[in-house]
Amino acid sequence: MIITQQNLAQVEWNKTDGLIPCIVQDATSGKVLMQGFMSQQAAEVTLEKGLVTFYSRSKERLWTKGETSDNVLKLVSLHVDCDNDSLLALAEPAGPTCHTGTETCWQDSEASASISFIADLERVIASRKGAAADSSYTASLYASGIKRIAQKVGEEGVETALAATVKDLEELKNESADLIYHLLVLLQASDLSLNDVIEVLKQRHQK
Ligand code: AMP
Ligand code: ZN
Ligand code: ZN
Ligand code: ZN
Repeated sequence: MIITQQNLAQVEWNKTDGLIPCIVQDATSGKVLMQGFMSQQAAEVTLEKGLVTFYSRSKERLWTKGETSDNVLKLVSLHVDCDNDSLLALAEPAGPTCHTGTETCWQDSEASASISFIADLERVIASRKGAAADSSYTASLYASGIKRIAQKVGEEGVETALAATVKDLEELKNESADLIYHLLVLLQASDLSLNDVIEVLKQRHQK
C-alpha cells in the first residue's frame, strides 16, 4: 500500500519501539540502495520534503539522507508491507547512496540482480554521448549518425532472427546481445531511454 499523509497512522509504529525499518530502492534500476529506520515523524518529513528522512539511532535525531553530502534520495513513493510493519521507499538518488562512496550499501557484484545490469550498461552508453569518435565504439556509433545506428539495429535484428531460425543457440545469444546493445544506443541517440519503452510495455500490460 502507498503511504500518504492521510494513512500514515495505519502503519504499526508501536509494534516495536516506534522505529520501523525502511528499505530504499532505486526507482529506476530496482537496486536496493540502503536501509534505515523511520519513526512516524520521519515518514511525515519524508512525504513533506520529498526527501527520504530517517530517524538515526546513532545521531538520536531525524536525519535527511544527504543533509551534509548532498547525496539525497528524492522520494518517488513510500510503501508499507503486507502486515504494516516495514517500509519501502522508491527513490531517485542524487549521487552515491553509501557514505563509503558506492552506489549502494551492498556494493558487490554478487549482490546485484542480473536485470539491473541493463541499467548500468545504459548509463555507460549514455555517458559516451559527445565523446571523441575515436575514444570508444559507442562514441564512434553516435558520430556516424542516427541512420547508421538504425541500420545496425536492422542488421542485428535480421542476424538474431536468422540465428533463431537455424537453431544456433550460441549465435542467437550473441546476436541478441548485439541487438540489445545497438537498440540502447539508438534510443540514446534519439534522446529516449529504455524506461520510456518500459512505460509503453507497462501500459499495455495493464489492459
Ligand atoms: P549524508 O546524510 O549523506 O550527508 O551523510 C551524513 C552521515 O550519515 C555520514 O557521515 C554517515 O555517518 C551517515 N551515512 C550516510 N549515508 C549512509 C548510509 N547509506 N548508511 C549508513 N550511514 C550513512
Ligand atoms: Zn511485515
Ligand atoms: Zn553504506
Ligand atoms: Zn551481430
